[in-house]
Amino acid sequence: MARKFFVGGNFKMNGSKASITKIVEDLNAAELPSDVEVVVAPPSLYITLTKELLTNPLVKVAAQNSFPKASGAYTGEIAAPQIKDAGADWVILGHSERRTIIKETDEFIAEKTVHALESGLGVILCIGELLEERDTGKTLVVCNRQLDAVVDKVKDWSNIVIAYEPVWAIGTGLAATPEDAQATHSAIRKYLAEKLGEDQASKIRILYGGSVNGKNAPSFSACPDIDGYLVGGASLKPEFIDIIKSRE
Ligand code: PGA
Repeated sequence: MARKFFVGGNFKMNGSKASITKIVEDLNAAELPSDVEVVVAPPSLYITLTKELLTNPLVKVAAQNSFPKASGAYTGEIAAPQIKDAGADWVILGHSERRTIIKETDEFIAEKTVHALESGLGVILCIGELLEERDTGKTLVVCNRQLDAVVDKVKDWSNIVIAYEPVWAIGTGLAATPEDAQATHSAIRKYLAEKLGEDQASKIRILYGGSVNGKNAPSFSACPDIDGYLVGGASLKPEFIDIIKSRE
């Protein structure tokens, strides 16, 4: 079954009302390919603004994180139902910056995934290894461990998109080679087939993330197991539109 190509833009903790308005206006004005699913993730403060300004029906909105409770005394956190209420359809979970800086565990990310799915959000589930893990041959051990936590709790992956983001490639300008990324994506798909069955595994989209830009994007999209990208830095630039169109 053909997997719909997916391009996510993760703004991280960047942007202002003015700069996000400009990005959304550019997306509204662009002629985007209808066979690509585009999702932008502004800081949560700007989800409502982004939704209000977006007129391009091909572009959806994601939050960058959520808390695994519907409401309550969790100061500073944002619940998946609130994200839905603000008009977003997706949430990014398990980003390496949250795993490494905020010290989120595999287990906690799995709990958030369950809760976000139950709340009706799609989940962009990020996984990926640190440089020292790659250098010691542990890439797949780490990715499988991060996936195991979610596989234990979630059997229906139809609303999950995986983003494989080698941590050493994020924000460094040093993207993985398409050959290396394809090899890892193919191994992840094999793992998914073992755990969830061939049918589900063949339908789950696996994005590549880590220094994707307008120049290197086509080399990734040409790989059979790479079903899109999660773009950080370049999603804040006009180049993001070139990346969305790069598969044409
Ligand atoms: P980058 O970030 O494109 O700036 O490397 C990707 C990400 O963190 O999702």
